[in-house]
Formats: sequence, structure tokens, C-alpha cells
Amino acid sequence: MPTYPASREICALGGMIANNAGGEKSLIYGQTKDYVEELKVVLSDGEEHSFSKINKQELDKKKEQPGLEGQIYKKVYDLLDKNFSLVKASRPNVSKNSSGYNIWDVWDGENFNMAKIFVGAQGTLGLITEAKIRLVKKKSHSGMMVVFLKDIGILADLVSAVLPFRPSSFESFDDNTLRLSLKSFRGFLKALGAKNLFTLGWSFLPEFWLILTYGMPKLVLLVEFEEDSQDEVGRKLNELREKLKSFKVKTKIAATAQESRKYWVIRRESFNLLRHKVRGKQTAPFIDDFIVRPEKLPEFLPQLYKILDNHKLFYTIFGHIGDGNFHIVPLMALADEENRKKIPIISEEIYDLVLRYKGSITAEHNDGLIRGAYLRKMYGPEVYKIFEEIKKIFDPLGIFNPGKKVEANMEYALAHMKRE
Ligand SMILES: Cc1cc2nc3c(=O)[nH]c(=O)nc-3n(C[C@H](O)[C@H](O)[C@H](O)COP(=O)(O)OP(=O)(O)OC[C@H]3O[C@@H](n4cnc5c(N)ncnc54)[C@H](O)[C@@H]3O)c2cc1C
Repeated sequence: MPTYPASREICALGGMIANNAGGEKSLIYGQTKDYVEELKVVLSDGEEHSFSKINKQELDKKKEQPGLEGQIYKKVYDLLDKNFSLVKASRPNVSKNSSGYNIWDVWDGENFNMAKIFVGAQGTLGLITEAKIRLVKKKSHSGMMVVFLKDIGILADLVSAVLPFRPSSFESFDDNTLRLSLKSFRGFLKALGAKNLFTLGWSFLPEFWLILTYGMPKLVLLVEFEEDSQDEVGRKLNELREKLKSFKVKTKIAATAQESRKYWVIRRESFNLLRHKVRGKQTAPFIDDFIVRPEKLPEFLPQLYKILDNHKLFYTIFGHIGDGNFHIVPLMALADEENRKKIPIISEEIYDLVLRYKGSITAEHNDGLIRGAYLRKMYGPEVYKIFEEIKKIFDPLGIFNPGKKVEANMEYALAHMKRE
């Protein structure tokens, strides 16, 4: 299942579906919504119902059914059909989105798939009990180019140079992540399993050497290719190396999956380790998942850094650079109310910027408590009203996961924030 998230060691399928998770392979494989074919869901009548793709004739029959399921089919169809053009136009123009309700993939004018509305709904419409998921065949060979970048100013051009090579993953982490990773070295060794202690320890020597001779890179980019033969992987890596010669960057080729493993460990485990590592401060993931189209990065990034610097935040940046999807995680002492008060102010500034560039406030982590309050800003009042209707149709008594999606507000979120 190619949409596994970086949290794959600590998450479950229900959460992946309910968040519409994506991950390091989403650049070519998309998001969880693209793989969900059928769902069983317990609805607000306490009964389990099955949902999958049906044609118009089958839909007409479903609408006539007695009970909650029939009502839901009728009301959701009426709502989406009546607002067909509005819904179509409101789909965010980015490669991933998990904000709001997934109203875009249910009714295409020919087929109707109610299963899709539960993907990304964060359990606010019903409880998923079973899923039928489409799988893909894994390619047999892979190789990675690691790019060490000191000058963030060339990032956007670099991204534009890499994307035409169609990497299967294009990920990144910043100097703060690398620093904290080297500090948490023992944690990484543990993440790889005790038998790898010695080899992994030695395998990091080139990175220590690079930092000593080249300095700490501002950003480390991981470009991975997956192909059916090692020759094809090698050819792509060589062509990319040629292409990147005109950029002032250091590159390193990790030609096999074994060699690239340590970089994946840093990328996948960094957020998890951060959560436990820095004394007196907590990871504050409230601007942790926005996305803008990669071609907008040259204009977007300087403005983003300006906002972050104005607020004097200590933060790590990692994420899916190829999609323009950034995970920015500030470390803040959340026990201090003054710090907590900054959260809505910074969110507002960042999301204003993201929306000016027609991005989404969340690509794959979903709205949760902390972002739901920005749904109206992101989609406007008409689409927001459709979201409200959807919630009412499925859950008229508001029993499923209260305080999320259309019921979210910032006061509630701040009052429920972890402080220690
Ligand atoms: C270290 C770390 C790294 C992460 N990396 C990524 C990443 O790369 N990509 C990504 O997409 N996300 C990432 N996440 C976010 C999150 O872990 C994933 O989206 C994951 O798929 C959520 O699954 P979970 O089992 O942890 O769900 P939970 O956090 O338990 O739940 C998520 C939501 O789904 C709802 N839910 C759970 N099960 C069901 C069910 N059966 N029926 C209905 N609703 C349900 C919950 O109510 C909740 O609203 C990361 C998180 C962490 C902490």
C-alpha cells in the first residue's frame, strides 16, 4: 500500500483512511483516498453499512431504500448534484489535500462512491470497521541521491530541476532536524534495531566528515528512484548528477536500499524522536502540513521564512518537498500561556499566505482540533455550508468525534492542548 505515512510504525489502517494519509511515495502514487475501494462503516443508527462504487441505476435503487442508508444516499446525492459545479471548482489545486470533507470523489456524474466521503473525515461521519484497499506491485530496485544544500535561495530551482526525472520520492529535512538527530543518535540506533548498532554508527562517519569540511547543510534532500532494474536506477542517478552539476550543492549517491536506509531513518523517525527529546519544550504541530504547488516555491518560501523569523521560533522543517508539502514543527514551551497565545496568530499569518498561493492548510495530516477553525477561510462560506450539511446528514446528533471539522473552534483547541 504505497500511501503509508512516516508514522507507519505507530499508526493503524483506520487512522490512515480517516486522515487520508500520504507519505514518501505520494509523489507518484497519490493518497489513501486513491486506494480505498470499499468500506464497512458503523453509522449513527448503530448498524454496520457497506459502501463502494455504484452506477446511477444502482444509486436510484439505494435512494429508495428504507432507513438511514437510503436517506443518506438521497440527501448526499441531492446535495452534491445540486452543487456539482461549485464542488468541482472548489477542489484545491495541489497534489494532496486532506482538509474538509472529500466531496470531490463521491459523484462524478456517472458513478457514485460513498466510501470516499469517509476518507479524510476523521471519524466524524461514522466508524470504519473494514476496508478493501487496492495495492500496487513494488518495484524491485531503488537508489537514492542525497543532496546537501547550504543556500536555501536555490531550492525552488533545484526542485524544478529534479521533478522532471520523476523520482518515486523527493523528501527533505533541515539542519535543525539533522542536529537533533545526531544528538539523539542512540535513539536512531534503537530505531534500526540493536544488531545494526555497529554498522550504522560507522556508516554515519561520512556525514560527520561532510559537516566538518563543508559545514552544516541548511537542507538535506533525498531523491529516490524505484525501477524494475538496477541499470535503470543507475542511469537516472547519473543523469540527475549531471543535471545538478550547475548547482552549488554536494551530492552523494546511495545506490542500494541498504545504503539509503539511514537517511530514511532520519526522515521517518525525526518527528517521533523530537516529540520525546527536547527538555521543557514540546513539538507544537499546528502549521505542520500545508501544501502549495512546487512551482510557487520561489515566491512562497521567502515570505514563509519571514513570518517564522518574525516570531523568533525554533523549528524543524522536513517533509515532501517534491509535492510542496512542508512539515514545520516549532518547539515551544506550551506550559507558558504567552506561547500558546502565539499559535492562532502565527497560524492566521501562515494560512493567509498559503491560501494566497491557492494551497491547502493540510495535505495529509488532516484538520484535527487545531486547523478545523480555518476551514471556512480556506473554502469560503458556500462550500463550508456543504460540509455542514454533510455532517448533519450522517450525524444529526453530533455523536461522532465532536469538536472536529465543522464543529471546530480555536478556543476549544487551545483549551485541550497538551502543555507538558
Ligand atoms: C511521527 C509522526 C509522523 C507522521 N507522518 C505522517 C505522514 O508521513 N503522512 C501522513 O499522512 N500522516 C503522518 N502523520 C499523521 C498520522 O500519524 C497519520 O496520518 C496516520 O495515518 C494516522 O493513523 P493513526 O492510526 O495514528 O490514527 P489516529 O491518530 O488514531 O486517528 C486519526 C484520526 O482518524 C480517526 N480514526 C481512527 N480510526 C478510525 C476508524 N476506524 N474509523 C473512523 N475514524 C477513525 C480518529 O478519530 C482521528 O480523528 C504522522 C504523525 C506522527 C506522530
